[in-house]
Amino acid sequence: MPKILDIALPVHLYKSFDYLAPEELDLSTAVRGCRAKVVFNHQVLVGVVLGSKAHSDFPLAKLKPIDALLDQRPCIPAELMALCQWASEYYHYPLGETLHAALPKRLRDGLEEQREHYWRHTTEGKGLDANALKRARQQQLAHQALLLHGQLSQAQLKALDIPKAAMKNLEQKGLAEQLEGEPEHSVTAAPHWQQEANLPPSEQQQAVLEELRFHQFNCYLLEGVTGSGKTEIYLQAMTRVLNAGRQALVLIPEIGLGPQTLQRFQRRFKAHIATLHSNLSETERELAWSAARDGRAKIVIGTRLASLCPMRDLGLIIIDEEHDNSYRQQDNFRYSARDLSIYRAKTLHIPIILGSATPSLESLNNAIRTRYQHLRLTQRAGRASAPSLRVVDLKNQSLTAGLSQAALQEMQRSLERGQQAMVFVNRRGYAPALLCHHCGWAASCLNCDARMTLHCAPRHLHCHHCDAQKPVPQRCPQCHNTDLMFKGLGTEQLEQALAKAFPHTAIVRIDRDSTANKGSFEQCLNTIHSGEPCIVVGTQMLAKGHHLPHITCVVIVDADQGLMSADFRGLEKLGQLIIQVAGRAGRAENPGTVIIQSHQPDHPLLELLLTRGYHVFARQLLQERHSALLPPFTQLAIFRAESKRPENAVELLELVKSLAQTRQAASPHMRYLGPMPAFIERVKDRYRYQLQICSGNRKVLNDLLQHVIQELPGKAIARRTRWSLEVDGHE
Ligand code: ADP
Ligand code: ZN
Ligand code: ZN
Repeated sequence: MPKILDIALPVHLYKSFDYLAPEELDLSTAVRGCRAKVVFNHQVLVGVVLGSKAHSDFPLAKLKPIDALLDQRPCIPAELMALCQWASEYYHYPLGETLHAALPKRLRDGLEEQREHYWRHTTEGKGLDANALKRARQQQLAHQALLLHGQLSQAQLKALDIPKAAMKNLEQKGLAEQLEGEPEHSVTAAPHWQQEANLPPSEQQQAVLEELRFHQFNCYLLEGVTGSGKTEIYLQAMTRVLNAGRQALVLIPEIGLGPQTLQRFQRRFKAHIATLHSNLSETERELAWSAARDGRAKIVIGTRLASLCPMRDLGLIIIDEEHDNSYRQQDNFRYSARDLSIYRAKTLHIPIILGSATPSLESLNNAIRTRYQHLRLTQRAGRASAPSLRVVDLKNQSLTAGLSQAALQEMQRSLERGQQAMVFVNRRGYAPALLCHHCGWAASCLNCDARMTLHCAPRHLHCHHCDAQKPVPQRCPQCHNTDLMFKGLGTEQLEQALAKAFPHTAIVRIDRDSTANKGSFEQCLNTIHSGEPCIVVGTQMLAKGHHLPHITCVVIVDADQGLMSADFRGLEKLGQLIIQVAGRAGRAENPGTVIIQSHQPDHPLLELLLTRGYHVFARQLLQERHSALLPPFTQLAIFRAESKRPENAVELLELVKSLAQTRQAASPHMRYLGPMPAFIERVKDRYRYQLQICSGNRKVLNDLLQHVIQELPGKAIARRTRWSLEVDGHE
């Protein structure tokens, strides 16, 4: 009887492949989830075994043997296999590529799994008093940490800020030793993971905690104003789960995973906490991943990618700032870490908590329709009061680098009181355009239909779409006039203008350019947390996850972009930004002021937000979406195509449209928009088009997409043109 393996390969084809297993392979052991090395199209690829079988639809003589089976036990456990399978179907993305997205890079490359190194006490070390080693502070800390945790991995040492040298010293003294691989587990032996007491919950917190059920699926939307104690709810819910011997997964927005957040979890629990984010080395990432899979890590805290982390016994998922855009992956495997996690919780029969002060309209709608359980915290914990929001009318005002007199005065007042101010503008660089005053020439990118941004430090022109850079010309390339001028406002320009207006105040700029170097973002944060008077200039990077108690004046330079945005989510995002920054600034004694500059100070929705708050504002937006038949009341799928020849992209999308329409005859519940050019039509010298398909019925849409995806790869135009599909699309 032949032994055949069904293998998913990282190729953009919607199927799996049959290979011959080696004679000696015992198929009674689990092979599903093991990696295999195979030759495919003259290339060596690492695939994932889906299963084994005795029959193939292909003649046996045509099947190739695998090169090697790389794992003795499944590298990807059953639960993650099933999750990827579902995601592959839901997002219409090939399973082989989905599985690869879930694997750390070293494992994707077919390397052998690494084993973690651990430190633990020797018998002598175990008996040593916790207060010994008084004269060697670091060693004492290391010793105490070992007493607390039993054993420590390198990753844990790093997280606890204990230098390796301190451990080495303990080793030399015969107090500690190192071992490779899983230590004998004290996991079940130590049921008490908590080291710092829970805060006594407020009345509202208590009510929320009493609602939580831990032994069944439930999606909770925890809508709580910033500072209302959502994190405390997370911590107490996690305590319950950890004490039951299970694991907790906490997702946090990209930029919110600061040392502050981590420390808060580390102080509360003496459990092994693994972190997963893009700032780790490949080795660190792999070790965190396998610690979670094998159950050594009790808590996993991470960004979007952690949603695909295998967990041995997951008991609770928490998504902090669930509205945040960084939970959506926007290239290749386009998925939402939030939605994926909700599905995961459902199949595992465990609770999931979505927390936010400004929930997404999707989640809010689900809560209103009782698909999610809506929990609310309306009061700030302690005696903090909310900052005041104030709109400044920009009409006919004289502006300094986009700032009104009122804004400058308010900043001045904060600084005089020894506090800090912050200014938001959502463009980095000096100015978004460079023009010739004489003939109207504008510096644009050769590869894109976009203006190049002028940067001053260092001085150059930069395309923010394709990253092309070139020197700033001395004269106009068209008419040779030297009268070049810039237009618009970026963070660098604001920084310079503020340095002039406030010559004795430190200016801290935070954007992608200023924080490109490792550690520089932390440095900026340190300055802000030091509390010294300063002005922070930044893009929206700062509106996430950080409490900024010394900042008592926040200026949103240009709210009109959100008010007049072509994107139907523009207003939702503006409302979230305003409420988020308002919530992060100031503290009990100094709640501070948020200044919103606009040419439309009377915009009814802006007014609603300021007078009635986010929840009422969001409900109004939901009504508007409902009457416009927009998400979340309809499902939106977006096909995108790009090509050096625009007609190819259009042809492909026309084909998609006709395939879709033959499957699902035109009905009032299906709407097609496009093919139409993308917002910026040409990027990197490729023309980009999109087709939006909107449906009132998810099942119908899914069936239609399935049909298109099956047909499309066989068509010649699809082989010549790059295309992608985004389910639950955002523009
Ligand atoms: P959120 O996550 O909603 O922004 P946090 O959980 O960070 O709010 O709480 C804000 C502040 O209030 C923190 O400093 C926290 O320690 C404090 N806090 C939260 N809950 C309580 C409580 N029950 N008693 C006292 N202080 C609390
Ligand atoms: Zn000119
Ligand atoms: Zn470009």
